Amino acid sequence: MSALKVLPDEPIIPKKPAVDPSTLGYRDLLRGPFWQRIPAYAEVTEEQFLDHNWQAKHTITNPTKLLAAVQALVSPSFIEDAELGFKRAPMSLRVSPYLLSLIDWTNPYEDPLRIQFIPMGSKLRPDHPKLDLDSLHEQADAPVPGLTHRYPDKALFLALNTCPVYCRFCTRSYAVGIDTEEVEKVSLKVSSERWARAFEYIRSRPELEDIVISGGDSYQLRAQQIEEIGDALLAIPNVRRMRFATKGPAVMPQKLLTDHAWTDALTRVVEKGRKLHKEVVLHTHFNHPNEITGITEDAMMKLMERGITVRNQSVLQRGVNDSPETMTKLVKRMGHLNVHAYYVYVHDLVKGVEDLRTSVDTAIFIEKHVRGSTAGFNTPTFVVDAPGGGGKRDVHSYEYYDRETGISVYQAPSVKAGQFFLYFDPLHQLSTAVQRRWADPAEHEQMTSAAIAKAKERTR
Ligand SMILES: *Cc1c(COP(=O)(O)O)cnc(C)c1O
Ligand code: SF4
Repeated sequence: MSALKVLPDEPIIPKKPAVDPSTLGYRDLLRGPFWQRIPAYAEVTEEQFLDHNWQAKHTITNPTKLLAAVQALVSPSFIEDAELGFKRAPMSLRVSPYLLSLIDWTNPYEDPLRIQFIPMGSKLRPDHPKLDLDSLHEQADAPVPGLTHRYPDKALFLALNTCPVYCRFCTRSYAVGIDTEEVEKVSLKVSSERWARAFEYIRSRPELEDIVISGGDSYQLRAQQIEEIGDALLAIPNVRRMRFATKGPAVMPQKLLTDHAWTDALTRVVEKGRKLHKEVVLHTHFNHPNEITGITEDAMMKLMERGITVRNQSVLQRGVNDSPETMTKLVKRMGHLNVHAYYVYVHDLVKGVEDLRTSVDTAIFIEKHVRGSTAGFNTPTFVVDAPGGGGKRDVHSYEYYDRETGISVYQAPSVKAGQFFLYFDPLHQLSTAVQRRWADPAEHEQMTSAAIAKAKERTR
């Protein structure tokens, strides 16, 4: 008889207190016909709701239609406030029925999804004085339109300029979506000629091993275009790694389940890459646990079965995910679906969304709470994408950070040696005295050069 049958005679003494069941809530995913809470979707069946064509066809791009769809659920003052917000917002509008159904319309001001996609006139704040469009200088680092070569061995290929959703906080509001009254966009339309020039450049640079395919958004590429880009890049000997970037799974997971042509095309590129010993993965963009439902789970499990690695990049946003509880829940919920939390970005300096930004200090605080809560490989690095083209820097790696003026100073020796890159915390988190200094352009130079001088003292 096996010795394993013998029961231990000593009881096991737990060293940790029993787990509070509420901390396991990240595993409880929304299922059932949740969309039927929206009057316009009350009759919509599961089959319809899962159909990506239905989702795309019913995606709302017009503020009046959006507000009409939820009119019965919200107050007239909310409608007025949103109308004012749309009038001032520099982004185009695009909201899928999936997203619309996940917003809690009984409390729309606080809802983390509403905050990301629907601007409120009453919440908008003046831009930081140091903000300029394309604060990351993606265009300045572009040898070919839509190809940014900033880092030594990797490049960012912007294949097209449309997305399945338009986010208020988008860093690429200089290029993405249609022109609005506020912003005239740079053209990054699908063009085989532009693509060919990008591929030619990548081939001409032996150091380029890693290509991010973004936009816009890979979800908007046709199945055939996914393969066209995939095949072209896999055929370049120096390319070893590529990632298709898409917000899609967060706003329309249905596509992965019912757009068989698209998912199969991605799978073929991944498999072809694997045979060539090249890595092809999907990068997505979940920002809040509410974006992840049972439908997302089914979609991610399908990718898991096909051996497709998924990593996530989030944007830290005030009122959306800027608390340890929410960020930990997001990270654990993603880990539960085999989605690796890769980055959390401190919000870039983007026009018209000052209400969404948080400080470097907030990012450091949240990171401290998230780290340790789950596997290290599911723990995101919190980064600042240094304005001026320094690239992503670990938030903690500043040379100097003046919490008073909200100026942090970074260096990027492997990207642009010798330069200093400044990030600016949002004004509304600074003292009134310092806010007054920022209101006076003559003071800016003084504050920034003081911060750089301190950074120089400390730099090694
Ligand atoms: C983010 C980014 C990349 C990829 O950087 P990783 O740190 O490897 O994710 C490449 N090029 C540009 C311009 C980028 O902004
Ligand atoms: S999906 Fe990405 S690229 Fe498109 S608007 Fe949102 S953040 Fe910008």
